[in-house]
Amino acid sequence: MQDKLNRKLTDLRISVTDRCNFRCRYCMPEELYGEAYEFLKRDQVLSFEEIVRLTKIFIKLGINKVRLTGGEPLVRKDIEKLVSSISSLDNSIDLAMTTNGYLLDKFAHILFDSGLRRLTISLDSLDNDIFQKMSGKKFDIKDVLAGIGSAKDAGFEKIKINTVIKKGINDKGIIDLVDYCKQEGHILRFIEYMDVGTLNSWNRKSVVDSEKIIDIISKKYSIHPIKKNYSSEVADRYQFDDGGELGFISSISNPFCMSCTRSRITADGKFVTCLFSNKGLDLKRYLRSKATDEDILNLISESWLIRDDQYSLDRSLEKGKVKNKIEMFQLGG
Ligand code: SAM
Ligand code: SF4
Ligand code: SF4
Repeated sequence: MQDKLNRKLTDLRISVTDRCNFRCRYCMPEELYGEAYEFLKRDQVLSFEEIVRLTKIFIKLGINKVRLTGGEPLVRKDIEKLVSSISSLDNSIDLAMTTNGYLLDKFAHILFDSGLRRLTISLDSLDNDIFQKMSGKKFDIKDVLAGIGSAKDAGFEKIKINTVIKKGINDKGIIDLVDYCKQEGHILRFIEYMDVGTLNSWNRKSVVDSEKIIDIISKKYSIHPIKKNYSSEVADRYQFDDGGELGFISSISNPFCMSCTRSRITADGKFVTCLFSNKGLDLKRYLRSKATDEDILNLISESWLIRDDQYSLDRSLEKGKVKNKIEMFQLGG
């Protein structure tokens, strides 16, 4: 099944909750998502049964990757039960999770025992003050580092660390993060700061392009580009000459829309075909009606067949602005 630009659907990212224990400024600024903000109510969020039913339908449609994300997936109660159900559906599915790591010390072993094998942990700085500034909370970075340590102890291999660099905020800490990940054997991936959603006050000047980060790293380490693992991989991979890997996701400076095979389900069950969409197909409505799996499968495939999203490419060509984009924490990064 290919969309209008000949892209297959191979990758499903599921936002299991719109809630989060952090308030990263580039995602959920505290002043907008404080005490008074109304998150989805329990019955508005897809149940585990509904998520598993949808995942099975997506597997029939040919996906080979599932990522659990959010919001913060570890704040969803009993998340390990969902991991266990999805991991036992089909062992050829590559199941992963993206987490801010704050609760990982408690969850790492449980997640591993439930069948999760791939983890991405977000970490923007090793300096506690800057970490707090980026994450919008007065939490201690030691808890995230302990979580990453527990993930390694539990048996997770090739742990990925996602870092978003904002100019003038955490760019001085690039080398510290590289040193740490290299030493620990984690794959550090720099994600360019993106204009997701509508509320993070993004501007192009705050982005540090991957090329600039590569220059900074190259002053200390010899690194060279290596082949992608598969053609739709979003990160440009690099290797240190003396071993170890890192990556760059350059959605702003070098958009990769033409190979984008990703789809997303929001916490309230909307099927969204681009990270920068302002709408999605309301699957929850069908899940909670008399629609059969086949009906739902047909709706998803109809929606994919007419997909022509290329937001980042349009942005780079300064055309096609989208109003009222869905926020990142609602649709899952
Ligand atoms: N809460 C989890 C976490 O932070 O890892 C999972 C959800 S979060 C939305 C997924 C990823 O999106 C994180 O790695 C985060 O850094 C990234 N992200 C959020 N807002 C972003 C932005 N404006 N630009 C680039 N990446 C962003
Ligand atoms: Fe929460 Fe992740 Fe968004 Fe930060 S990036 S506010 S941790 S959902
Ligand atoms: Fe895919 Fe949309 Fe990102 Fe382009 S902008 S890579 S189509 S999610």
